[in-house]
Amino acid sequence: MGLHVAPTGPECPPIIEFRNVEKRYGPITVLDQLTFSVKPGEHLALIGPSGSGKTTILRILMTLESVTGGEVIVNGVTLNREHKNGSDVPASEAHLRKMRADFGMVFQHFNLFPHMTALQNVALAPVLTGLLSKAEAKERALQLLEKVGLADKAEQYPSRLSGGQKQRVAIARALALQPKILLLDEITSALDPELVEEVLNVISNLRDETDMTMLLVTHEMGFAKDFADRVLFFERGKIVEEGPPTEIFQSPHHERTKSFLRKVIAAGHRI
Ligand code: ADP
Ligand code: MG
Repeated sequence: MGLHVAPTGPECPPIIEFRNVEKRYGPITVLDQLTFSVKPGEHLALIGPSGSGKTTILRILMTLESVTGGEVIVNGVTLNREHKNGSDVPASEAHLRKMRADFGMVFQHFNLFPHMTALQNVALAPVLTGLLSKAEAKERALQLLEKVGLADKAEQYPSRLSGGQKQRVAIARALALQPKILLLDEITSALDPELVEEVLNVISNLRDETDMTMLLVTHEMGFAKDFADRVLFFERGKIVEEGPPTEIFQSPHHERTKSFLRKVIAAGHRI
């Protein structure tokens, strides 16, 4: 297991806090007064049926989605609201951009820019944000591609890469701005089974070799068991049950959790 042990105890303030967060689309409530927190360096697995709100949670943190109620706090700073001229107002684009800097996200469908090489995909954000010069960004991109085992593919366009290679480029790209928190949304779901392991190996290495906080949405329960310090089981925008992976996977308390895990196993996933 990992070299990094998630800090515990009351002395350690959370890096992420959801306080009574509500997300509605018209009459549909997607997140229902959701409250939870994540400690710095913690590795969290988010599991639950399709539509339970897992992607929405990651998209809210990535500032791709707003909330309709409650507060999201990152590193002690409210993400979705700010103080301006003495009053509490919805966050401005400038505030959201600042908050976004702590996060990197990897999506199910890679979302690489097809007209850019692997290297250009990884080097883009540090140049666009003015963080690095072109030469520095190129050097960092090469290091990151090496880290994900793709140094030899730097000059390839995505169309020439396998799904597993594309996803590893996407991971390198998510790391380019040196995020404190990495968000991973079903990153192996679109891959052929034989390509899943190379991607999960990269995630295992990041887990063991960095102190990033990581939130992983997955149906790979076997992997979640090794990866996670804590598992949250969601249903209809609420946490039904949470605990260490041994407890959630081996002796879940709630009937809903049990029946979900039975379905996942029936669908051919290992636990
Ligand atoms: P999960 O990732 O757990 O499958 P999501 O967070 O993607 O769940 O979605 C939760 C719910 O929100 C789903 O019922 C989905 O249909 C709904 N939803 C997501 N985005 C929108 C949208 N733009 N408009 C309306 N409903 C949406
Ligand atoms: Mg989803």
